[in-house]
Amino acid sequence: MFHKILIANRGEIALRVLRAAKELGIQTVAVHSTADADAMHVRLADESVCIGPPPSRDSYLNIHQILAACEITGADAVHPGYGFLSENAKFSEILAAHNLTFIGPSADHIRIMGDKITAKKTVKELGIPVVPGSDGAVTDDVEAKRIAADIGYPVLIKASAGGGGRGMKVAKTEADLAEALSTARAEAGAAFGDDAVYIEKYLEKPRHIEVQVMGDGAGKAIHLGERDCSLQRRHQKVWEEANSPALNVEQRNRIGEIVSKAIADLGYSGAGTIEFLYENGEFYFIEMNTRLQVEHPVTEAITGIDLVHEQIRVASGGGLSCTQDEVRFEGHAIECRINAEDPRTFTPSPGTISHFHTPGGLGIRVDSGVYSGYRIPPYYDSLIGKLIVHGRNRVECMMRLRRALDEFVVDGIKTTLPLFQDLVGNPDIANGDYDIHWLENYLAKTG
Ligand code: ADP
Repeated sequence: MFHKILIANRGEIALRVLRAAKELGIQTVAVHSTADADAMHVRLADESVCIGPPPSRDSYLNIHQILAACEITGADAVHPGYGFLSENAKFSEILAAHNLTFIGPSADHIRIMGDKITAKKTVKELGIPVVPGSDGAVTDDVEAKRIAADIGYPVLIKASAGGGGRGMKVAKTEADLAEALSTARAEAGAAFGDDAVYIEKYLEKPRHIEVQVMGDGAGKAIHLGERDCSLQRRHQKVWEEANSPALNVEQRNRIGEIVSKAIADLGYSGAGTIEFLYENGEFYFIEMNTRLQVEHPVTEAITGIDLVHEQIRVASGGGLSCTQDEVRFEGHAIECRINAEDPRTFTPSPGTISHFHTPGGLGIRVDSGVYSGYRIPPYYDSLIGKLIVHGRNRVECMMRLRRALDEFVVDGIKTTLPLFQDLVGNPDIANGDYDIHWLENYLAKTG
């Protein structure tokens, strides 16, 4: 087992990892920018190192500074959290070259899944269902026309190097195709320095359903069920739940088995998420995230398995703590992402939190790095906390969520709490009847 873990992140996820490390009796090192000197993750860690000025590229993305911090403190492993360096294959290789363990999958697996064309080809060969489309990059417009006609309009042009929804263009008919191709190529080239694009069938009203997996890196893997993250705004998840209201036990087990077998065959190590669009009873792979996700606590709530413990165990060579047969899915969980944003316009609302009071009681978990008197720096993302509620079933979970939201107090700044108060009382949400466009349509209607 590791002796000391350096957490190369900030905010709620740095605290999340720190807690798991403490429970396992492992020393913790926090790193921080000058803007985060009084952050909670710095206060709670055994040691802390300042790694640079506020901009992320000079601090949380500064590999040299993070290496130096490992050296000064004698850390033997690094947990990257999510975002920042968590899907940076080069970072994991540099750590390995310095005899430090990256708590995550191999650099090769990060690279494969980081390129969408390679990822799609790889998972398709492993038996995972993918969206019908071109077999690889499309460079020729005549060929593109043939493929699009074959799969049927509307089609979606996607950037191989894409991320954050950029470099994506819909062509409704053949008349739109040439322009969609050239805009997508230009956007991808400008944003990612790689203008390779491919074509997919555009799904009209899908849900976003993702499967959580854990591999031991030696050919064993388990799945921990799915999360439904269909409630999104501008491709950002807002509300996540497990299980998905759209799946029954057979569907859950079937997709879980397909995915865990694929991940085992790949020899994957650590936590990963296979993201699907789901429409008319069919799953279509869109991407794999080779890291812990923001919404992982809903899976923890229904399985009782600590995903960060598992990540640390696997990375240290201890294998998985349980087999698939030992995984039990109990009840229902929902996570609300609370952002320091205006709940109507979603413009960031940094500033000082004058009062912060979190709800409590059975089935309530709040993961947050903020406290009363904390000043939110304007340099980073606006997530200030996650409210995770668990109940024996979805109805109980929703009742508990409504009560917990009423107890939550964040004064001094604007937050997205009122949005969740609206959502929890909405009949479509109560019925679990929503797709990936629901939230934006709702906001357009009520805004
Ligand atoms: P990114 O990495 O840029 O976020 P994804 O492949 O994860 O790209 O897709 C982002 C979002 O775009 C999805 O959550 C979904 O809303 C939409 N999308 C992607 N592929 C399709 C498709 N084939 N049909 C319809 N919508 C899609």
